[in-house]
Amino acid sequence: MKALELIGPSKFEVVEKPAPKPNANEVVIRVKACGICGSDIHGMDGSSGRRIAPIVMGHEASGVIEAVGAEVSNLSVGDRVTFDSTVFCNQCDYCNHGRFNLCDDRQVMGVSCEEFHRDGAFADMVVCPEHICHRLPEGLSFEEAAFAEPVGVALHAVNRSGASSTETAVVIGSGLIGLLIIQALRTIGCSEIIAIDLDDSRLELAIELGATMGVNSQDSDAVERAVKRLDGKADHCFEVVGATPTVNLAIGLAKKGGSVTLVGNLAPEVQLPLQKVVTGELTLYGSCAINGEYPDALDAIVSGDISVKPLITASVSIDEAADWFAKLKVAEKPYLKVLVCPESTAS
Ligand SMILES: [Zn+2]
Ligand SMILES: [Zn+2]
Repeated sequence: MKALELIGPSKFEVVEKPAPKPNANEVVIRVKACGICGSDIHGMDGSSGRRIAPIVMGHEASGVIEAVGAEVSNLSVGDRVTFDSTVFCNQCDYCNHGRFNLCDDRQVMGVSCEEFHRDGAFADMVVCPEHICHRLPEGLSFEEAAFAEPVGVALHAVNRSGASSTETAVVIGSGLIGLLIIQALRTIGCSEIIAIDLDDSRLELAIELGATMGVNSQDSDAVERAVKRLDGKADHCFEVVGATPTVNLAIGLAKKGGSVTLVGNLAPEVQLPLQKVVTGELTLYGSCAINGEYPDALDAIVSGDISVKPLITASVSIDEAADWFAKLKVAEKPYLKVLVCPESTAS
């Protein structure tokens, strides 16, 4: 089978590999679409320690079951599926308490680090355990289904925050995940959803998708405009960048007793305005990956509560993918999601 392998820091090669064979509890999936994630872009130079070459990346995929292991009982060849980016053990204390994303033996598809190596789905085929798979609803396209993972990430962040209808929210960062969080907040009925970003085209899209106001943080009066619109500050702030200035902005825009959900994790460390958090009794939530939100994510895509088609920048073949990794890295345009579709042929 054909695979796009990361062979060194930000260096790719399209290679021929033997088709994976499933262990007893595993399935082999013929990949139809797999999204390129921000973590792939930031990690491909090796700096995050999570993409140590050689590795086939790719953890946001959809496809069709090609083969099943001897003990697989709920899935059959031909089933249309997506899979959880987190490979959880189903046995540790965290798994037993339903916190699968915190599994002590957590692995991630398409990631290689010191503890594990798991090839992902920028390939004709990928192998994973049966218990992390989810069947696709009828009629859902593979391209849309590849968004189940990022939509699940957004739903998990909103679930962590405890946001509910009539409450107000600020979302800092209108990239892919930010735009999905905005849609999730709109679906639950938040009365104000303020999008903050540096890029006006993203802010326009944010408003199309449900933000009640877009604020460019380069404007000198950005914060004042947000505060004015909110008539104070927000019940819930979402930080979807992961850097000191944006964490500060999120904490500064949360009302006393409010919450700040930290989703972005670009910088390993940030400075925190401690006194604001303490004296305002803010609740800070970390939000990592997905914990059981896959069925809701698939439902939201099918129902149109969360629309993902406007977020597709390009669908490309495996041969074209390396060029797109380079383009996404440079980010000369505000690209959103690029999908690698192994069965498409280079244009
Ligand atoms: Zn991802
Ligand atoms: Zn576990």
